[in-house]
Amino acid sequence: MVATTDITVTRAERSKLKETDFDKLVFGRYFTDHMLEADYEDGEWKNIEIKPFQPLLMSPSLAALHYGQAIFEGIKAYRDKAGNAFIFRPQDNFRRFNLSAKRMQMPEVPEYLFMEGMRKLVAIDKNWIPDKEDYSLYIRPVMFATDEVIGVKPSDTYKFLILLSPTGPYYSAPMRIYVEEKYTRAAPGGVGFAKTAGNYAAALQASAVAKEKGYDQVLWTDALQHKYVQEIGTMNVFFVIGNVAITPGLEEATILEGVTRNSAITLLKEMGLKVEERSLSIDEVIDAHKKGTLKEVFGTGTAATISMIKELKYKDYIIHFDTDKWTVAPTLKKWVTDIREGRREDKYNWMWKV
Ligand SMILES: *Cc1c(COP(=O)(O)O)cnc(C)c1O
Repeated sequence: MVATTDITVTRAERSKLKETDFDKLVFGRYFTDHMLEADYEDGEWKNIEIKPFQPLLMSPSLAALHYGQAIFEGIKAYRDKAGNAFIFRPQDNFRRFNLSAKRMQMPEVPEYLFMEGMRKLVAIDKNWIPDKEDYSLYIRPVMFATDEVIGVKPSDTYKFLILLSPTGPYYSAPMRIYVEEKYTRAAPGGVGFAKTAGNYAAALQASAVAKEKGYDQVLWTDALQHKYVQEIGTMNVFFVIGNVAITPGLEEATILEGVTRNSAITLLKEMGLKVEERSLSIDEVIDAHKKGTLKEVFGTGTAATISMIKELKYKDYIIHFDTDKWTVAPTLKKWVTDIREGRREDKYNWMWKV
């Protein structure tokens, strides 16, 4: 492994920390004093640098702008009472980043660049990690094509960045969602399993239509029949039916393999539930509701952790939940948050010390 000393550091002359109002944090709007930047050229990563957060200069012909070779990750860092910084399961994001890179014909990022670069950057801006309950430092690694050529082909050059953004409590009120039957998020053979920019652009219209209709999000279904559930917006989804938590399986590669999804599977089992990763049709969900065995529906993701669903609509069939009576999703949310913030034993070694 290449030592972290291969990362050059240029410190910001002055810190923006004091003028950042931590009581009014809008998600993803404020960034710390530094960022990590590296370039891929001639088959290798070069110019690895931590430097003051600043704009990039780019050609209007930048390949990523035209053909969308762009991938990213979302990770969170926390600080304990003693002032130590920890990052939640970053190795999983590192692995997923390179899976996304491969699918988009982009170069892999070496572990020292992603992990040690992140460690060093977070250490430098450690004072930006809010130590208040439910606050964290959001870490955004991103890679995009930088060839200045508008010919369609995988770019020969790329830029990798890591940005840090302090975030406040992401309160997500129980959501109203409907089963999407027109738009598609992911199809077999497509890029649903990759965290790539275009997936987000392609999903915006369905979200906008949902909002126009007075809903918060859509429940994505399979591309071919619009019958099998996939995800809720940009979150993985779980259905609690009886004593079983069911979440769509990964075999078709249409589901983003969430780190929160994986954590939820582990903790739900610890709670005594049976967990099944398999295909689940909307008919099965409705049948369970009719039989009275459908207990809870919730989404999982790094930003909100767990989002409860209070209303689920499929055609004319509407299911209302009294989320105040739920036990599984609130316990899961508490356990994940408590592990991240040091109030619950980190049995699975999820917290990675900076
Ligand atoms: C990022 C993402 C998730 C959640 O993944 P986490 O690792 O839990 O944050 C789920 N679905 C989609 C489509 C995503 O992009």
